[in-house]
Amino acid sequence: MSDLTLAVDIGGTKFAAGLVEPDGQVVAAERVATPQGADAETLWHTLTALLDRLDVPAGLAGVGVGCGGPMTWPEGEVSPLNMGGWRGFPLRGRLAGRFPGVPVRIHNDAICLAVAEHWRGAGRGSAAMLGMVVSTGVGGGLILGGRLIDGGTGNAGHIGHVVVDPEGPPCGCGGHGCLEAIARGPGLAAWALAQGWSPNAAVTRGELYQEEGTATARRLAADAAAGDPIALA
Ligand SMILES: [Zn+2]
Repeated sequence: MSDLTLAVDIGGTKFAAGLVEPDGQVVAAERVATPQGADAETLWHTLTALLDRLDVPAGLAGVGVGCGGPMTWPEGEVSPLNMGGWRGFPLRGRLAGRFPGVPVRIHNDAICLAVAEHWRGAGRGSAAMLGMVVSTGVGGGLILGGRLIDGGTGNAGHIGHVVVDPEGPPCGCGGHGCLEAIARGPGLAAWALAQGWSPNAAVTRGELYQEEGTATARRLAADAAAGDPIALA
């Protein structure tokens, strides 16, 4: 019996997996790019090949999975918006079949982030917090009274589709003016460009970026940190 937990992160850009000690220390980790446009079994085989690379010990304490929504919860049939090959894919069940006798838990990736920040990050010692992910989308997870709030369908704290501007832009969910439609990374960059932000200004200041010459939210955040007034706004 091992006391290690296998942690798995399923995203539209990458799959990542790690072995984690009871205190949260990551002792091994691997990642692989998510195959784009792949069918269900190709995605599954990409994941199992990644897990094979990890040299997972026998008798894990558990398997924990964060995955983009939507999903049925806690059953864990996933249909990630940005991964068309998985629609109602029984990810939790398939992993349970691969690791017999080991408890497998799955939750929305933003909720996993909130729990991690509460346990080992910015939310330590806080009884009430909202953890938020701002990337291609906007997600969230809610801690109240020191405990994770799941909600009846596992969607509590999913702040991305709260309407913040009824006259706002259309959202991928079919609504209008959701927080995600306005504040997702690409939305932030588009707004800043419309205000006259130039992502190339930082290049002329001699700063280095991984994504030279592109108007990304990552660069916008770097410009905000450097004091650019539009990026700050
Ligand atoms: Zn929405």
